[in-house]
Amino acid sequence: MANLIDGKARAGEIRAKLKEEISRKKMTPGLAVVLVGENPASEVYVCNKIKACNEVGIKSLDNKLPETTSEAELLKLIEKLNNDKNVHGILVQLPLPKQIDSEKVLNAIDPSKDVDGFHPVNLGRLLSGQNGLRPCTPLGVMDLIDSTGVDIKGKNAVVVGRSNIVGKPVAVMLLERHATVTVCHSRTQDLPGVVRNADIVVAAIGKPDFIKGAWIKKGAVVIDVGINRLEGGKLTGDVDFKEASKNAAWITPVPGGVGPMTIAMLLKNTVMSYELMRKSFSSPITHHT
Ligand code: NDP
Repeated sequence: MANLIDGKARAGEIRAKLKEEISRKKMTPGLAVVLVGENPASEVYVCNKIKACNEVGIKSLDNKLPETTSEAELLKLIEKLNNDKNVHGILVQLPLPKQIDSEKVLNAIDPSKDVDGFHPVNLGRLLSGQNGLRPCTPLGVMDLIDSTGVDIKGKNAVVVGRSNIVGKPVAVMLLERHATVTVCHSRTQDLPGVVRNADIVVAAIGKPDFIKGAWIKKGAVVIDVGINRLEGGKLTGDVDFKEASKNAAWITPVPGGVGPMTIAMLLKNTVMSYELMRKSFSSPITHHT
């Protein structure tokens, strides 16, 4: 049976370390959270993020705007937050109402305050191996793989999913750590065959129990990013956890795996952004060894 990778516990360790650091260094990081409209799921996410900020000592600045907000109004708010010295991170909760072009809004965020790591400048930095703010969920995935003690170097890593927020950045981070990376998607031929070769599997698809246990190589590390709500409200991942556990050496549960890590990395990015604003962007803060 596989060992469980406890994301909840690991995220708790990261938050405790941040809390101690913020207090010891007398830091005053501020995260502006922007929520437009009344999407119930978004409200829960934002609420959790604000709560997590408050617990570690990051000041959260709540910006709730009505559903009818125009693109110009939102862009004006972003500009104000970009110029606010007390704001070190800006988070715009997606999805945005239809009248607003999300790409335009995300691109308007100052890259040095882009704690979600979605700005093209930060994605470009990631691709070219430079320091910068990186997307939170992929950072969480890498931290969880490292927490197993398995050396990524030289391993066959298969990422299923190629979104800009999860699949692509995870693939780049694994490559940076010297894995041999294969990225799969909806047009991949013989997905089971590709996954069977993987020492490390990262599933970011959005389909419940899509990756079957029999596809998992004996001894593999399996990271399940998927969050799928079944009828009845139960949450499940993209991997058939029960069957995959029989072959994997390490596996993340859903919930309690990658999910809590995403918020922990958002807090970490906010503190990093605070520190970078005090130094220059060329400071020796490294993401990998
Ligand atoms: P997207 O819908 O943006 O991407 C899904 C990817 O899965 C696409 O690349 C798609 O391929 C691929 N895919 C779909 N069907 C298949 C198939 N049959 N075979 C192989 N690949 C397939 O999703 P996200 O990346 O945003 O999210 C993925 C999952 O992770 C979701 O469940 C989401 O809720 C969860 N998530 C969890 C987070 C967390 O904090 N734990 C954070 C972000 C997301 P193609 O490109 O060809 O369409």
